[in-house]
Amino acid sequence: MIEFEEALSMILKNTGILPAEEVPLDGSMGRVLKEDAYSGIEMPPFDKSAVDGYAVKSSDVKKIPARLRCLGLIQAGEAFGRRLARGECVKIMTGAPMPKGADSVVMVEDSRQQGKYVELSRSAEKGENVCFKGEDLKKRQKVLQKGIRISPSHVAVLATIGIPSVKASGRPRVAILNTGGEIVPLGKKLGRNKIYNSNGPMLSALLKADGIEPRFLGIAKDNVRDLKKEIRRGLDTDILLISGGVSMGDYDLIPSVLEGMGIKKIFHKVNIKPGKPLFFARRKNTIIFGIPGNPVSNFLAYLIFVRPALNKMRGCQCGKPGFKEGVIETGFHSKLGRKHFVLVEVLKRENRYYLTPVTSHGSADVLALSKADGFMAIGPHTGVIKKGSKVGFITWKKI
Ligand code: AMP
Ligand code: MG
Repeated sequence: MIEFEEALSMILKNTGILPAEEVPLDGSMGRVLKEDAYSGIEMPPFDKSAVDGYAVKSSDVKKIPARLRCLGLIQAGEAFGRRLARGECVKIMTGAPMPKGADSVVMVEDSRQQGKYVELSRSAEKGENVCFKGEDLKKRQKVLQKGIRISPSHVAVLATIGIPSVKASGRPRVAILNTGGEIVPLGKKLGRNKIYNSNGPMLSALLKADGIEPRFLGIAKDNVRDLKKEIRRGLDTDILLISGGVSMGDYDLIPSVLEGMGIKKIFHKVNIKPGKPLFFARRKNTIIFGIPGNPVSNFLAYLIFVRPALNKMRGCQCGKPGFKEGVIETGFHSKLGRKHFVLVEVLKRENRYYLTPVTSHGSADVLALSKADGFMAIGPHTGVIKKGSKVGFITWKKI
């Protein structure tokens, strides 16, 4: 049996990087940017008003109230042809270009229009309420670094500089297959001796949170014919996730079915708890994870094995599970011999993470999972962890 680190490195070694694609900005969310992005324009491209108000010469509103002659109105998107002389102002809308001769804007809230004149009850410093040309972005300025995962705020920056499409990582195609004669889809009546399919929706949710729209292959019964048929349907993907059927039971058929289909086993079993019977295989460019059926094992396997592979595929520099260091708040006993992943609550205080183990009945205890924020990882040779010791952990939350 191999150790966690070796399993991870074998998975990554068998995972290829998908070729980059030109994708419309609208479909770029969650992908990795493959080229630095530079602005071809200045932002803002012209001096503009930040508020609705009156464009003035600040020298005209030193003494208030000030009475100025109003020359007209500038709408956003339009220009104003005349230059302001002393004693003059122009009504201006947010986002409209500043007229020549004006250097600041008094907000409309501080004004009273009196026919062709306006009384301003507030002075303005030079530059007040004006956004200056190029103050946010200079021409040829680098705005995004290649390698980042594109988020909604990155989309905003790219749209602002007028980029309709970007070179981004290919999007991994991922399929989910759940197995087990006892597994019932949601919406169906739960018959005797059956349980609902929690792995399917859970894995799908994890993938969606990572920007992947998975294909759901359904629930296969534990017989060779069904399994073969469903697995075949998933072989045109980059990642096939199979839950259940990889342990030592008489109906744990996944390893033999895959091998019977000529699919090459890379490893079976990793020295971790939970999730020891993990099966990993590869067929051409498809990597296949056979994950032991309990939901907490599936969740953990996703965090520590599937996500790093997914990230490598899309060329993200985050190709390792992100372990951080925390301080354990209560003493803990771990069984020797296996790397143990324990559900913990994580609290952050003054830039340090504090971990408290969550009471759990084992790897089927989904309620315990829902109360936890992460897994702390205890090495195979550590038995007793004293309160206050430092421990590595991985979290799926922003803490
Ligand atoms: P297996 O790996 O097939 O031996 O399954 C291990 C345990 O996980 C069994 O108790 C199964 O009933 C349970 N299990 C398997 N698949 C699922 C699933 N999709 N949702 C919830 N529990 C499951
Ligand atoms: Mg099963």
